[in-house]
Amino acid sequence: MYHLPSHWFVSFRHWSVSAKLIAILAPVLLVFLFALVWVFPGRHREQMVEQQVTAMAKAVLTQIQADREYYASVIVPRLLNMNAKIKADYHLIPDAFPLPATFLREVAEMAAYSPSVYRIRLVSPWPINKKNGIQDAFQQEGFQALLQTKSGLYSQRDSQAGTTVVRFLAPDKAVAQSCVDCHNAHPDSPKHDYHLNDLMGGIEVSIPIDAPLKAARRDQLLILWAGAGVGLLLMAMIVWGTRHVATKPIRELTNQMNAIALAKGEVSEVPEFKKWAETAMGEEVRALWSQFWEMHKTIRMNQQDRTVALQRQSEKHRVLNHRLLELQQVTQVMQQATSEEEVYRILSHTLRQVLPLRQILILRLNASEDRLELVWSSPKRDEYGLNSYPVWDQPWNCPVIRSGREYRVQDVKQDLTCSYSLSNEEEGAYWCVPLVIGGRAIGVVHLVSAVPQCWTQDSRQWIEPLINMAAPMIGHLQHLEKAKRRALIDELTGVYNRRFLEEVLDKLILPEERRKGQIVSLLILDLDHFKRVNDTFGHLVGDLVLKTVAATLHRILKESDVLARYGGEEFIVVLPRTDTGAAVVVAERLRVAIADLSFGKLAPAAPDHVTISVGVATYPTHASTVSDLIRSADQALYQAKTSGRNRVICTSDNRAVVSDPPTEGHEDR
Ligand code: GH3
Ligand code: MG
Ligand code: MG
Repeated sequence: MYHLPSHWFVSFRHWSVSAKLIAILAPVLLVFLFALVWVFPGRHREQMVEQQVTAMAKAVLTQIQADREYYASVIVPRLLNMNAKIKADYHLIPDAFPLPATFLREVAEMAAYSPSVYRIRLVSPWPINKKNGIQDAFQQEGFQALLQTKSGLYSQRDSQAGTTVVRFLAPDKAVAQSCVDCHNAHPDSPKHDYHLNDLMGGIEVSIPIDAPLKAARRDQLLILWAGAGVGLLLMAMIVWGTRHVATKPIRELTNQMNAIALAKGEVSEVPEFKKWAETAMGEEVRALWSQFWEMHKTIRMNQQDRTVALQRQSEKHRVLNHRLLELQQVTQVMQQATSEEEVYRILSHTLRQVLPLRQILILRLNASEDRLELVWSSPKRDEYGLNSYPVWDQPWNCPVIRSGREYRVQDVKQDLTCSYSLSNEEEGAYWCVPLVIGGRAIGVVHLVSAVPQCWTQDSRQWIEPLINMAAPMIGHLQHLEKAKRRALIDELTGVYNRRFLEEVLDKLILPEERRKGQIVSLLILDLDHFKRVNDTFGHLVGDLVLKTVAATLHRILKESDVLARYGGEEFIVVLPRTDTGAAVVVAERLRVAIADLSFGKLAPAAPDHVTISVGVATYPTHASTVSDLIRSADQALYQAKTSGRNRVICTSDNRAVVSDPPTEGHEDR
């Protein structure tokens, strides 16, 4: 509903249209009315009255002067011809015919009794006529004016005996020789000159104008009332009209708008108007309504679009948020990983959850960065056995390693593929993402999908941070591994050092009560006459011989066996779950292999062959502690040395097994 503010009458702002129109028009109307009634018609009426009165005065004067001229020029000469005499005392003669001068007086007296109510007087300022001399200021000023102009009509409004009159003073000129004759003959005449005295006096006519003025005022009042009436009617029509064509339809419009606002804009049909409102509303109001409705529709559509966009955005944020949380969780899990393999496993698992991948391969540069090795494959493929991982001997051929940038193929059958890729044969898409540490690519994650065009912006948002987060983790673990290895590996030969050996033996050689049938055999190997090799070929050649011997031993031994450099040119081999007999077999195999080694290619001058002596002892057969076990084996070695070298001696029987090595009794060799 449309509500008028409670102080609507106080502030002009809140007045209705009709009230404002009246407020604007009323003063204008009033001013116009006053102007019409008082200024224009009032002056007009007065002018008309004055014109009428002047015309009347002129008519009277003309008539009088014409009559007197006739009297003076026709009647009087005729009387004089009839011997009528005019003497100085003529005016004393009873019933004498009137003289032209007195003719006017006669007429004036007659006029005084006439219903036309005007008055006529003869005014003579000359000494000859003392009775009719100048009597007031009007006559004084009138004569001054007439003397100057000698013609015309002097007039002024005046008040006489309570009535308003217009007084006219006209020149009284000599109209006949008889006038001049008489006046010039008169002893009191100021100048005996006809020409100078042609203005013999003045004829004053005064006409009352109260009645016409009253009539004029009555007319004015009538106009005023009529104007006021018309004004009021006009205002009433304005009020009625504006209420009908503007105020009420607009109020109806406001109610409709209010209804739309109350429905929170959820209105899609054009609301229906009352018939009268529809008919009455002016075209501007109708335009306002249709424009409002257009605006409402546009805003509504915009709102709907925005809502959809907002929902989409919020969904995006939700997904992003979810991802961030997941990423955080993955990070936490990765941070707890203790090996590279574990990181690869987590990475691979997470990637598989996010994308429908056919295969994930992780390739990494080796320690000397001259080979690219496959370190992870999911699913595991038999053809990628650990020792047969595809290796690129020139890792710089890989564009991802070279540039540190991703390589993406959306469709293997259409896009340009990488010639080094493993996935160029089957249909689908692949994506190589570099594992970057400190701006350097240390490996590549190769993702393969069976679906072409599957790499979206969305997947990129997931995958890149995940791999970027995994890369430093891998680097960190690599360093850790390297450090660990450095601590346990002998630098020259690359086999385990004495420290590692002791750790292994401590784990394997357990106190009696916890042994549970554990058997461990130990071999001590010593190069025979090694000092001579050094002395003859030099220390460097001696080092190369040591490295070759160690590598040969490592190659022959099993994964589960532990080979360690015990010191100098002595090695220890730990053989878990191996009894003495089997240990002797292994020792013999090693001895033979070393004896068969040829060092000719090692250096320009090198020994032809080297031999080793081996002492064998078994836990718990020959010793119950680590130190006893080593001591036993060492004693056997000593025996091997003293009994001629290049042989295997077992502690228990001090039996040399130089030749015909036993092949039975070793369960897994
Ligand atoms: P035997 O047959 O009695 O064992 O004689 P041998 O000369 O091998 O034994 P000896 O204990 O007298 O000499 C060991 C030599 O091994 C002494 C040393 O010069 C050499 N040696 C020890 N460690 C290294 C090494 O790291 N590099 C080289 N080149 N020689 C080593
Ligand atoms: Mg030695
Ligand atoms: Mg030696």
